[in-house]
Amino acid sequence: MFYLKHEGKKLDIREDNVFTVCPICGKEHTVDLHDILEGGEADLYGTAVYCPDCAKQRMQDKAEKS
Ligand SMILES: [Zn+2]
Repeated sequence: MFYLKHEGKKLDIREDNVFTVCPICGKEHTVDLHDILEGGEADLYGTAVYCPDCAKQRMQDKAEKS
């Protein structure tokens, strides 16, 4: 398992305390690392995670094009 450390204190990684920035709108949002690791994407630095709004938008765009 992984955990964060802040000033010597161990912090559990939970679904609500890991943040990233959406590559489309730049909005900061939480990510569930469990989801990312489950999807086979273990590159924590190179993985871009869209915010819920942009993810939804992208799904809609895809559906319209096909
Ligand atoms: Zn976004």
